[in-house]
Amino acid sequence: MIDNSSKKHYIAIIGGSISGSEAAFILAEKGYRVVIFEMNSLPYGKIEDGLPKWHINLRNKQEQNIDQKLNHENIRFVPNVKIGRDISFDDLVNNWGFTVIILANGAWKDRDLPVNDINKFIDKGLIYQNALLYWYNHKHEPNYNGPDFNIKDGTVVIGGGLSSLDVMKLGMIELVQNALLKHKGLDIDLFTFEKKGILKILNELHLTLKDLKLKGMQLVYRRNAADMPLKTPRDNSKESILKAREVSDKLLKKYAENFMFQFIPLSSPLEKIENNGKLEGVIFHKNKLIDQKLIPLKEDTFKIETTMVISSIGSLPEKIIGLPYDYSILKMKNKNGYKVSGFTNVFAIGNAVTGKGNIRESKKHGADMTNKIINEHLLKEDAIEIWLKNYNENIRSEVQEQMDEIEAEIQSKKIMPDIVIDNILSKTKKLQEKIGYKSYESWILSKTPIRLEDMLNK
Ligand SMILES: Cc1cc2nc3c(=O)[nH]c(=O)nc-3n(C[C@H](O)[C@H](O)[C@H](O)COP(=O)(O)OP(=O)(O)OC[C@H]3O[C@@H](n4cnc5c(N)ncnc54)[C@H](O)[C@@H]3O)c2cc1C
Repeated sequence: MIDNSSKKHYIAIIGGSISGSEAAFILAEKGYRVVIFEMNSLPYGKIEDGLPKWHINLRNKQEQNIDQKLNHENIRFVPNVKIGRDISFDDLVNNWGFTVIILANGAWKDRDLPVNDINKFIDKGLIYQNALLYWYNHKHEPNYNGPDFNIKDGTVVIGGGLSSLDVMKLGMIELVQNALLKHKGLDIDLFTFEKKGILKILNELHLTLKDLKLKGMQLVYRRNAADMPLKTPRDNSKESILKAREVSDKLLKKYAENFMFQFIPLSSPLEKIENNGKLEGVIFHKNKLIDQKLIPLKEDTFKIETTMVISSIGSLPEKIIGLPYDYSILKMKNKNGYKVSGFTNVFAIGNAVTGKGNIRESKKHGADMTNKIINEHLLKEDAIEIWLKNYNENIRSEVQEQMDEIEAEIQSKKIMPDIVIDNILSKTKKLQEKIGYKSYESWILSKTPIRLEDMLNK
């Protein structure tokens, strides 16, 4: 039942993905009116542009979940509007009259690779993960006009989270797929590669990387394979932690074997090697671990010659002018809170708060992954899928908890005069009309790009 006094509040949410759609739905179900400002045409965030496109079922399920939430009579979806670019945050907070503003804008800025002056090689040898995944997910679309990358043999990936494994996988598949076509005239699709693994396909063809004139790629990580967050310990006991570390170690080795890349542990980038303005490699230093504390060994160095480096060291929230930050992190009123410092009506939820998705561990973790499962189901029950499913569930339940308190804050604010509501309605309607938006369903239908699997099935 919709309570009319609730309707006298209008809430703005920035970003329509996992956390934004969850918050919007909770509020809309209670009768509040919500406007979602979304910078892209589609509201799916990292699910659409960050999750590699072979995760078909997971992507479809998560996107359907978002659609079911956003297609609600109390939610007004305003796509193609970036707060900070098309509407300033100051304008939104001071002039629009929203009761509260909720930031659910995720983590879209790649962390800078800590190598002096290396960013001058962006797209000229250095690629950051978010741009790479956007290209990878959309490059098959007939009207694609975004960045264009050509993964080179010998590419070095720097990183250590789960998504760096996806980067290795996609990079190696690209290299081998292209080489098989070029040298052997064989056209094998991405989904077959992903399902079987590169090693199995090459074994069946009695080929090696060398036969395809490939060296392969290298993944450089500052810690050990066992330190990778591939398996969350069941609890904090010593045995669970040890077991999780063993599983992570095995998982990484299995990935490296199946997708034929090299793993270099305990190493961090120190300097770039450049010649005549071109990137020619990276100098790394070794690290050691004492009681899990990372000790850099700056004198113990080695170099890798390469003309392509992919940085996969995580993403942070993109800064919006008008909001307070402590370096890269949104300044909150208190630690672990969701109230943004300096405002009484601005909140942040999901990855927008810290962008620590790569390191935050899921509270609700699935069944223990035994060695048997690793060996038998690794290629089917993808560790990344398990992690992401749990992680997104975690975000959703966290948002649900936060919404109770945010709702109490909304209730403590003055009811909106009708003129403010009319003003929000007419301003957002204009924004929708400008881009030809009529209804949520028809918009999503017209903007969802053609999927690679559908192209291949034609
Ligand atoms: C390959 C991969 C890598 C990942 N890496 C990380 C990581 O490094 N760090 C991390 O924290 N999590 C990471 N994750 C986890 C992922 O971010 C979460 O699973 C989930 O997508 C977070 O949901 P969200 O709603 O908080 O953010 P998002 O999915 O990022 O959604 C934010 C939404 O806000 C919109 N938006 C952003 N800025 C604006 C603006 N100014 N105005 C209007 N709209 C805006 C975006 O378009 C997007 O739709 C990764 C996931 C994948 C698949």
